Amino acid sequence: MKSRTRCKLSDRLNAYVDNELKPDEKVMISNHLQGCLLCRQELQNIISLNELISSQSEVTTPGYLNQKIMARVTSLSATRIQLMNNLRKLTLAASLAVSICLGLLFSQFLENQQSDIEEWALGYDSFYSYFEGGY
Ligand SMILES: [Zn+2]
Repeated sequence: MKSRTRCKLSDRLNAYVDNELKPDEKVMISNHLQGCLLCRQELQNIISLNELISSQSEVTTPGYLNQKIMARVTSLSATRIQLMNNLRKLTLAASLAVSICLGLLFSQFLENQQSDIEEWALGYDSFYSYFEGGY
């Protein structure tokens, strides 16, 4: 026969100990505890663990460890700042290069536009001069 190692209500025991249950739920757990050995054992474990935790004094770290950690954090920050500066320079160089390329393309475009206009003006003159007998 398989023995039960866990009760379905044991999940509520922490809340019961911490007084976080609604009154009717609290009464229900109290009544259940009288008949359930598993939950009584679990409840005792929770209470013992809570006592153990609250009896521990605050853990303090040795001074050299604090200094070591702070030195590491500071050096990481410096590395990060250096990377950000490099990225900023790279971005500036890239945007400058793009601006130059766009300028060259645009000047090329304007040159083409200009020659189109000149061709068109020449055509216009030729058209009228044809009728005016200029040719
Ligand atoms: Zn139980």
